[in-house]
Amino acid sequence: MLRFPRPTQCEQSSHAELGELPAVYPVIAGVTVVEYATRLERHIYRPVDAEYETACRTWALAADLRPAAVAFPRTPDEAIDVVRQAAADGLRVAPIGTGHGAYSFGDLSDTVLVRTNRLSDYQIDPGAGTVRVGAGAIWVPLIDMLGEYGLAVLHGTAPTGGIVGHTLGGGIGWYGRSRGLAANSVTAVELITADGELVRIDANHDPELFWALRGGGGANFGLVTALEFTPEPIRTAYAGVLVWDLREAERVLPRWVEWTASVPDAVTSIYRQVQYPLVPEIPDLLRGRKLVVVDGAVLGSDAEAEAIMAPLRELRPKWDTFRRVPARSLSRLHNDSEQPSTGGLRSALLGALPSAALDQLLSVTSDSSLVVTAELRQLGGALSRPAPGGGVLNRLDGEFLLFAGGVATGPERARTIADHDRTLEAMAPWFANRSYLNFAQQAVDPATGFDPGAWQSLLRIRRRVDPYGVFRANHEIPRV
Ligand SMILES: Cc1cc2nc3c(=O)[nH]c(=O)nc-3n(C[C@H](O)[C@H](O)[C@H](O)COP(=O)(O)OP(=O)(O)OC[C@H]3O[C@@H](n4cnc5c(N)ncnc54)[C@H](O)[C@@H]3O)c2cc1C
Repeated sequence: MLRFPRPTQCEQSSHAELGELPAVYPVIAGVTVVEYATRLERHIYRPVDAEYETACRTWALAADLRPAAVAFPRTPDEAIDVVRQAAADGLRVAPIGTGHGAYSFGDLSDTVLVRTNRLSDYQIDPGAGTVRVGAGAIWVPLIDMLGEYGLAVLHGTAPTGGIVGHTLGGGIGWYGRSRGLAANSVTAVELITADGELVRIDANHDPELFWALRGGGGANFGLVTALEFTPEPIRTAYAGVLVWDLREAERVLPRWVEWTASVPDAVTSIYRQVQYPLVPEIPDLLRGRKLVVVDGAVLGSDAEAEAIMAPLRELRPKWDTFRRVPARSLSRLHNDSEQPSTGGLRSALLGALPSAALDQLLSVTSDSSLVVTAELRQLGGALSRPAPGGGVLNRLDGEFLLFAGGVATGPERARTIADHDRTLEAMAPWFANRSYLNFAQQAVDPATGFDPGAWQSLLRIRRRVDPYGVFRANHEIPRV
């Protein structure tokens, strides 16, 4: 049996003929969270252990997680032991995959952090059209496997992001406007309950909990050991990147916003202003460069896609990589950091953006030297329509998702975050008054993630399935 110290005892210390998209931004070498976590040999680390600091380190390098203990279960049975023992010891349990959402945890001194990286199996049945992944699975291996069969999943832009955290928190990605939120492609969830039982939840087994899990975040209701979902028959896309110098932002931003209002749901795109820092890790081609980038994916024929892209191409980008690519190429299209990062961000859902809003965004980002990326993600389409039979988050309110992100440690970090906050504050008049919790890297009122009626149901379901609050999510639904 596993034993944890009580808080008081803790010393806190194929399309083979289609080429892949060219790498516009070369990937910085390093190890992923999964590789790194699986190098640790033991199963439990406590604050007194020499490797405790390493065991606490996740994708979010600047998150100072100091749990009562860190567990790395290798099987669902080991995870059950962890949950039961933690509860018996009066500790709480916080499941975590890669740590892409780790900044929004508070004090974990009474909590066992359960890292799922070793529960990362992938099972696909292309004939039946089903996918089953373990709790620690990340996107890239699954996307590559399914690509062989002309299938795709509703992944996000971070290739090494965790499937469970992304999907149960909603999940927007390159197919968002045509297929909706990833949460609504889930067909079953296997999870360990607060009593330490492994159960399978689906439309016929506790449908109320199944509804809450799909968008309500897994850790509010249990420790998810596996997810099943339905892949989409998507073999290729017309996708790529358009790049201009940042000085062109005044021309490109209004055109892009106007264009988003006119394009069909087959298109999902992202506008961003990137300022690459002067650090050696950034390749020569990009170091210190200031750019405007529009990346995106169009599902449709080449002729349709070219007609759709024409208004943006009229602005004569200096790089244009849009063309037909295998769907698996989209996993790295946005060039999110695959390795643990000090990156942090602030985000908000925005409504329609009139010209005053665009002027404001251009003005605040032009003197936000520490905002490495200011990004607008195009929403709408299937993301804004209620998914039939969907979960608690079956649509997103808002036309755009804004985020401001940067990379910094030490004293610079506080200034960087202040710059992000300033960007968000400047755009407050256009907030959609709803949060997208998946992208909230700071503590926010989780009620703002849901319709008021849905929130009341989530409170009730949380009280029913976890009355003593064994589980701890990064955005926790209270038990009151
Ligand atoms: C660089 C970057 C890019 C991103 N891109 C996108 C994007 O394109 N689309 C999008 O929708 N979101 C995106 N996000 C947000 C991301 O989807 C969320 O942060 C998501 O929660 C990450 O899941 P994870 O498992 O990787 O992270 P983690 O931090 O490991 O998990 C996040 C939370 O999910 C819950 N959770 C994780 N595993 C389990 C489990 N086994 N059982 C129960 N609960 C669990 C926990 O509450 C945990 O705190 C991005 C974030 C970053 C940092």
